Amino acid sequence: MRTVYLNGEYLPENEAQVSIFDRGFLMADGVYEVTSVLDGKLIDFDGHAKRLERSLNELGMQKPDAFDDLLDIHRELVRVNEINEGMIYLQITRGAPNDRDFVYPDPETTKPTLVLFTQNKPGLADSPVAKTGIKVISIEDQRWARRDIKTVQLLYPSMAKMAAKAAGKDDAWMIEDGKVTEGSSNNAYIVKGNTIITRHLGNEILHGITRAAVLRFAREAQMQVEERGFTIDEAKEADEAFITSASTFVMPVVEIDDHTIGTGTPGPISARLREIYLEESRKAAI
Ligand code: PMP
Repeated sequence: MRTVYLNGEYLPENEAQVSIFDRGFLMADGVYEVTSVLDGKLIDFDGHAKRLERSLNELGMQKPDAFDDLLDIHRELVRVNEINEGMIYLQITRGAPNDRDFVYPDPETTKPTLVLFTQNKPGLADSPVAKTGIKVISIEDQRWARRDIKTVQLLYPSMAKMAAKAAGKDDAWMIEDGKVTEGSSNNAYIVKGNTIITRHLGNEILHGITRAAVLRFAREAQMQVEERGFTIDEAKEADEAFITSASTFVMPVVEIDDHTIGTGTPGPISARLREIYLEESRKAAI
């Protein structure tokens, strides 16, 4: 049984309980982060901590008292749960007032809820899927307009994933005003010749921590990067496509809306970026 963290305590997972009045439960009034673990170490912890702080600020949510101890808490969970490869999920909600109300509770009396738990995923980095690639469908992006804030409102992404599954595919790329925003839980990229194209940052997408690292490594390796929107038709004609996220790293995409990308196998640039990303991230892990 896992040991999880809840508001200052390390507990067996079946003993960690949150109020039915918690605003995360009633209003999706919460933010989260997922940090991956390789070789028992945290990948890009600082990037996740900074984005978490930004999400809290954007929502006017107070930091939990333990905010400065988050690195230690992550490490302790990795240690007690013996995680070599996997993820740490972290969630902060605006807490549990003693009733349901649209108005935010007084932060003096209602403290945020802080939860962390581990997900053990042996073989995460050496995923067989990365060798064959994934297939995606496209669907309309019907999420709210502040996708740059990493909130726990994940119903639409969950519906998108179910639509992909119903079509016999792996994931969905979402489209708004004719351009791809991002994948259901990842950033989306295409490759044309030697140029990597991914949507520019803005409120329409989550500012992926993996995205930032991958683009930095790509530029360091003298690859061309264009941060701009692209259409699904442009994507179908691309030489390569891939996604990035903390849990998939760089994952090749070999089919978009039943249209084969390139040769139908992971392209050289995607494969190389995955290699560089894993190598550099392992080196920098803490
Ligand atoms: N976009 C969305 C909508 C996501 O949910 C995620 C994963 N949390 C990402 C992009 C990728 O972000 P990261 O690289 O920080 O995991």
